[in-house]
Amino acid sequence: MSKGKIGVTSENLFPIIKKFLYSDHEIFLREIVSNAVDATQKLKTLSTKGEFSADLDALKVEVKVDKEAKTITVSDQGIGMTADEVKKYINQIAFSGANDFLEKYKDDAASIIGHFGLGFYSSFMVSDKVEIISKSYTEGAEAIRWSCEGSPEYQLEKAEREHHGTDIIMYISDDSSEFLEDNRVKELLEKYCKFLPVQIVFGKEKKWEDGKYVDTDKDNIINDTNPAWTRKPSDLNTDDYEEFYRKLYPYADKPLFNIHLNVDYPFKLTGILYFPKIKNTVEVQKNKIQLYCNQVFVTDHVEEIVPDFLTLLHGVIDSPDIPLNVSRSYLQSDHNVKKISNHITKKVADRLEELFKNDRTDFESKWDDLKIFMEYGILSNEKFAEKAKKFFLYKNTDGKYFTIEEYENIIKENQTDKNDNLIHLYANNKDEQYTFINAAKEKGYDVLIMNSVLTAPLLNKFEQDNHKNHFVRVDSNVVDKLIEKEDNTKIELNEKERDELEQLFSSVTPKGETNYFVSFEDLGENSQPMVITQNEFMRRMKDMESIQGSGGMYGSFPSSYNLVVNISHPLVKTVIEEKNNSLSEELKTLDTEMAKIDSDKDSLLKLKEGKKDEEVPQEEKDKLSELDTRRNELEQQKNNHLKAFGSDNKLVKQMVDLALLANNMLKGEALDQFVKRSIELIK
Ligand code: ADP
Repeated sequence: MSKGKIGVTSENLFPIIKKFLYSDHEIFLREIVSNAVDATQKLKTLSTKGEFSADLDALKVEVKVDKEAKTITVSDQGIGMTADEVKKYINQIAFSGANDFLEKYKDDAASIIGHFGLGFYSSFMVSDKVEIISKSYTEGAEAIRWSCEGSPEYQLEKAEREHHGTDIIMYISDDSSEFLEDNRVKELLEKYCKFLPVQIVFGKEKKWEDGKYVDTDKDNIINDTNPAWTRKPSDLNTDDYEEFYRKLYPYADKPLFNIHLNVDYPFKLTGILYFPKIKNTVEVQKNKIQLYCNQVFVTDHVEEIVPDFLTLLHGVIDSPDIPLNVSRSYLQSDHNVKKISNHITKKVADRLEELFKNDRTDFESKWDDLKIFMEYGILSNEKFAEKAKKFFLYKNTDGKYFTIEEYENIIKENQTDKNDNLIHLYANNKDEQYTFINAAKEKGYDVLIMNSVLTAPLLNKFEQDNHKNHFVRVDSNVVDKLIEKEDNTKIELNEKERDELEQLFSSVTPKGETNYFVSFEDLGENSQPMVITQNEFMRRMKDMESIQGSGGMYGSFPSSYNLVVNISHPLVKTVIEEKNNSLSEELKTLDTEMAKIDSDKDSLLKLKEGKKDEEVPQEEKDKLSELDTRRNELEQQKNNHLKAFGSDNKLVKQMVDLALLANNMLKGEALDQFVKRSIELIK
């Protein structure tokens, strides 16, 4: 038996392993099991070179928990180690600058372990003592036992072991006793070792017998040694990909399609990414992309490795070339990682393009589920946006799909305005905007349906990318004004009529936090008598506000709508006539008096012309202000007459309510009154 000191340059190593690596304790099992797998794989490599022969399929790694002895044992039948190899690989933890590094990364277990190749030593995070019993595969090798109690002292002696291979026996410390529970160990094996390339045995398969589960004599294998991503795409069909998806996320819906990644140069990377059906964000965040390193699970925090929008995808990425065990900020600036990220983005875009080209019908049928991913990608990644232009689809209100280019060609003729802008009309709700959509279609326009949470920023981006493209929601103006053309020969009101009617109609718009601006258009006698619209700019501001949360730069905008009165509609004409009939006397008297005042005012103002203020006699000034006051009084009286007429007029009220109703904006008491009034009008 020999004794010695483990060759670390820092005596601090063990305390640090035990103390600072607290949060990541559970990875010890991953490290020990993957060492066992490596040792087994090495033997397989030797056998392919003809340097060793054995029944390779029988080579398994076994994990055993002995609750009484308080041990976890990981056994393999791999290459094993001679005493010299143990001295070399286990005792000599050779590194430089240890203290600095340990200090810097003391809170980051993965970094320390990875940096020093301390995989094996991570067992001391949970053990008071660790034993290695090993026998090398080489002819005539002698078995050895190494043991260490978490200090730089170790013991090395001869031992008995029938076959080549290694047992790592961990004497679990009291504060880590959770790892002596079968369920906990099972959970860790399933998390980290589910796809390791050598069979991992943990206990026996169980069967239901006499009202309880009992062990069978069949080994319970916890892993799939040949997961789909390690196989050739040509050997796999859709079912295989879907089956693998279920292994990763047992409760998720079927994916839409997948991308099999297989890169050799300039870095090695394999994997399968799936496009999930994005129903809600909870689902998406739960089923994350998993990162593996040679089939060993590393993490499902892949934010640094794939661009943001790709984190919406599911699946696995496996790369021995991603520096897994360094800090996150380092990862972000790492050149290789950037390349990997760009490469994955490109692959995803290429695959989407291929799917679009090869089977457009299928692509279209999946579009609604895919859309949010595409929009996110376009908004967050310029490289992706560039490629996505070829296969981003618009869907119109008839359910037809178009590429951006196809759509521009279709609407070019009818929807180019007088300034040569191409106006894309869209709706976000087919039912609520039904009247507007219909009106636009009757004019020969096409209307898109754009209803995702990202619509507002997406349209902003499209307009920025191409200044000639404009997006206008179909209810943002009356149909004639949506796309402004030259040929507008319409009835117009003079200023006086306009002012009068504005008073009349604004008396019946809903009062509250929302502002209504009354305006007048000749929309033709076959259009609606009144239409409520919301200015595209104002509405998009509001939409941005709802994405960014209130309190942002758009927070203070009140809602405002336009009530557009169609002056050529017969009902509106009737109202105007009625007004003229019943108010003509009063209005005439008032108008005459006001006209008189205006002309008096004019003469006085003429007198003032060219004079300095102090040169104007006080008498004239007084007269002028008297006339102003009187003028205001008269105007007020006139407005009151018009308002009273408007609010007493059931037809006016009815038309405003109908317009509100068409926009789904008539609610509660107002709706109730509308119904009652309608019945009265019918009677
Ligand atoms: P790493 O695996 O990163 O090299 P470890 O500390 O986990 O670092 O292991 C150090 C070395 O010890 C390994 O490279 C290997 O040569 C040897 N080793 C560890 N576990 C085993 C095992 N189960 N069988 C054979 N050799 C082993």
